[in-house]
Amino acid sequence: MFKKILIANRGEIALRIQRACRELGVKAVMVYSEADREAKYIKLADESVCIGPAASAQSYLSMPAIIAAAEVTDAEAIHPGYGFLSENADFAERVEKSGFKFIGPTPESIRIMGDKVSAKQAMIKAGVPCVPGSEGALPDDAAIIKRTAKAVGYPVIIKAAGGGGGRGMRVVHTEAALIHAVQTTKAEAGAAFGNPAVYMEKFLQNPRHIEIQIMADQHKNAVWLGERDCSMQRRHQKVIEEAPAPGVPRKLIEKIGERCVAAVKKIGYRGAGTFEFLYENGEFYFIEMNTRVQVEHPVTEWVTGVDIVKTQIMVAAGERLPFTQRQIEIKGHSIECRINAEDPYKFTPSPGRITTWHAPGGPGVRVDSHIYANYFVPPNYDSMIGKIIVHGDTREQALARMRTALAETVVEGINTNIALHRELMVDAKFVDGGTNIHYLEEWLSQRQR
Ligand code: ADP
Repeated sequence: MFKKILIANRGEIALRIQRACRELGVKAVMVYSEADREAKYIKLADESVCIGPAASAQSYLSMPAIIAAAEVTDAEAIHPGYGFLSENADFAERVEKSGFKFIGPTPESIRIMGDKVSAKQAMIKAGVPCVPGSEGALPDDAAIIKRTAKAVGYPVIIKAAGGGGGRGMRVVHTEAALIHAVQTTKAEAGAAFGNPAVYMEKFLQNPRHIEIQIMADQHKNAVWLGERDCSMQRRHQKVIEEAPAPGVPRKLIEKIGERCVAAVKKIGYRGAGTFEFLYENGEFYFIEMNTRVQVEHPVTEWVTGVDIVKTQIMVAAGERLPFTQRQIEIKGHSIECRINAEDPYKFTPSPGRITTWHAPGGPGVRVDSHIYANYFVPPNYDSMIGKIIVHGDTREQALARMRTALAETVVEGINTNIALHRELMVDAKFVDGGTNIHYLEEWLSQRQR
């Protein structure tokens, strides 16, 4: 096992990784920007290094600053968390070339999965079902593009190979709008992602977002850890996640989980990863793979009993997976609400000083957050300030526990979306389970203040 790990991230995930280090008896080095200097989780770490000013480009995204911090503190490995440099293949490569272990997959795996066209091709080869669409990137020839769309069937969606975070996508309903849409998406993708390649998929009308968590070691062992339903989204950003996915036949999930494991083995993947699928009319369609730990990993941890972050560190150190597929059993139900510092109606960010913080507790309640009374939420980063996660024997019990937890939670001094979560936890359709990816936006458009 490593003696010392550098955590190249901030906020709740930095604290989450630090906790995993403690359990493993590994020393944790925190890096921080000037905006995060006062945060308590920095002071809790064994060592900490300031890597630059508030702007992410000069701190949490600065490869030389992070690698230099690992050098001066003698860390052996770097955990990238999520966001920032976590899915940057060049960073993973520089980390390993500088003599540190990157806690994540190989740079090659990150590179393949980071390009959605190559990711999809790898998945088709590995037998994972994908959304029907173009074979690879679209050519320039208008006639071929039109023929492809006709074969796929309208509506279609044009997606950037290098896209991410819900950007670089355009839905097309008619042939008349097709060529212009392809050209515009290409131009935007070139400017935003430095890669103008686009591809075409059938646009699914009312799918759910269901993803499979996988975990693999460097000794050819791989398992899947059940699924998560992340259909409650606003602007392609997840707001509520749960495991298992309500109402999806276990047989179908098992089939897709096994396919994911086979794909992982085929591509020689290591570490934690997530296969994201759209699910419609009883079919799964792969859309992309995330090559890092995800925000919503706690719901999987709770229903499987597996500590995903600890396991990431163990397999990066060369250890074998400490469990087999047969030992993975899904127990009960878990739900996560992402708590954002934002206006609960207009969703404008609400940074500033937290004056009161009362965290919920009791049976089946977990809070992953780095905040406290008098903590200053900096305006420079993502607005998520923590997550409330609950577990129950049944979905009903989990919902009841989440309602109680949200009722107990007090955050003052800034605005948060807790009021939104309180409303959603008693919404009849959400309580029934199985809402699709458009549900939350439709609900918001009809919401009464
Ligand atoms: P990103 O990497 O930007 O998150 P994804 O490929 O994961 O891009 O897609 C993000 C979201 O866009 C999906 O969760 C879904 O809501 C929507 N989407 C993507 N592809 C399709 C499709 N073929 N049909 C319908 N919706 C889609």
